[in-house]
Amino acid sequence: MRQIKTGCCVVGGGPAGMMLGFLLARAGIEVVVLEKHADFFRDFRGDTIHPSTLELLHELGLLEEFLRLPHQEMPKLKLSIDGHIFDGPDFSHLPVTCKFIALMPQWDFLNFLAEHAGKFPNFHLRMKHEVTDLIIEQDRVLGVRVKTEEGEMEVRADFVFGTDGRHSIVRKCAELEVRDFGVPIDVLWFRLTKPEGSPEYLLGRIRNGQLLVTIDRDEYFQVAQIIPKGGFEKIQASGLEKFRENIVAIVPEFRDVVYELDDWNKVKLLTVQVNRLKQWYRAGLLCIGDAAHAMSPAGGVGINLAVQDAVATANLLAGKILRGECTTEDLALVQRRREFPTRMLQNIQVFVHRQMFADHSDKAVSLSWPARTLLELFSPLIRRIGARVVGMGFRPEHIEPSSTDRSRPEAR
Ligand SMILES: Cc1cc2nc3c(=O)[nH]c(=O)nc-3n(C[C@H](O)[C@H](O)[C@H](O)COP(=O)(O)OP(=O)(O)OC[C@H]3O[C@@H](n4cnc5c(N)ncnc54)[C@H](O)[C@@H]3O)c2cc1C
Repeated sequence: MRQIKTGCCVVGGGPAGMMLGFLLARAGIEVVVLEKHADFFRDFRGDTIHPSTLELLHELGLLEEFLRLPHQEMPKLKLSIDGHIFDGPDFSHLPVTCKFIALMPQWDFLNFLAEHAGKFPNFHLRMKHEVTDLIIEQDRVLGVRVKTEEGEMEVRADFVFGTDGRHSIVRKCAELEVRDFGVPIDVLWFRLTKPEGSPEYLLGRIRNGQLLVTIDRDEYFQVAQIIPKGGFEKIQASGLEKFRENIVAIVPEFRDVVYELDDWNKVKLLTVQVNRLKQWYRAGLLCIGDAAHAMSPAGGVGINLAVQDAVATANLLAGKILRGECTTEDLALVQRRREFPTRMLQNIQVFVHRQMFADHSDKAVSLSWPARTLLELFSPLIRRIGARVVGMGFRPEHIEPSSTDRSRPEAR
């Protein structure tokens, strides 16, 4: 069997894995990132780049170039409830360079990171490499087994990082214990042409107990419809015509474009989970991002949390890995640092699910009149707190200046 040896093996090229691979390579470590897909062009990974991630790009000196990619800037968010527009988080007060959320297809973000990481000669991204198992000897993870088009291979590494998302094979093979928090919703994911005159910054629309999130991708909306968990079969059984009528009942402006949904193949079911590993590491292995703590789409915070995990990991471990001094206790430091912000955001997500989605009827969303009144009364305060939580999260990380100059990309 083919075998390669490297310093760090990162399993999964999502936001956590690509940012970690980039930062470890930048610190001068030999890194192999293994991604099972052939490219980053998948359509269901979330599209939000929050102020905290933009700040990291600023600290890395990449912000200007990043903002040249096509994107929409959302300095504030709005929510429509039964036709009344409520102001949501307002990012204009945040103490950061970019006081907005950038809406950008995630494949552009990942390609951007891949392009910049690829400038380091010690960074190796291997697409179509699917990890199937861990190599464990004497209770230490020593590498991974990989399925490739050319057959099986082994990647042996000083450290393996599990960044393979919410269906992580790494955490399963490592037998790390998962705590599941239960989620009452799933998401249907489809796109519709943007009707003329669609209101600006309107991200969520609730009507008749149903919620559609509309992500503006310039020409079209990427739409996420929140449905009760396990409810897709029932929706399909009622037929496409009924499904389209229902969408128009929530967003009347979609009347002239909803016919685009002429096949169930255009509607993808995304199952939502919220869970967290009890312990994120074992000897030779650390999980971060969704592999350590699967996030729901509520608040759209998962990508940024995954990126923050990667930055903390590089800050805490890169120097020690380079010097050959990184121990299992050091891996534990990452969990110790990142568990608090993760727990806070997951608690909020679970609370939101319970408040809005747990009515167990056909209605995905229920918002009582006292809740609405509160929303109106406290909205200025809620908008500020909401902006802080959504835009920055808890305990935002920073690129450590000391690691910045450890290695420079080679000019190509
Ligand atoms: C429906 C839905 C919508 C969401 N919308 C948003 C949003 O708008 N904003 C937001 O911030 N968050 C959103 N989230 C949450 C967000 O998607 C995740 O929190 C975030 O993607 C986690 O990043 P990650 O890098 O840890 O994992 P992932 O993004 O899941 O990346 C994991 C990577 O590992 C690869 N991989 C998996 N298994 C293997 C293997 N065996 N071998 C090699 N590679 C492998 C995958 O192909 C993938 O590229 C949403 C979640 C859901 C369910």
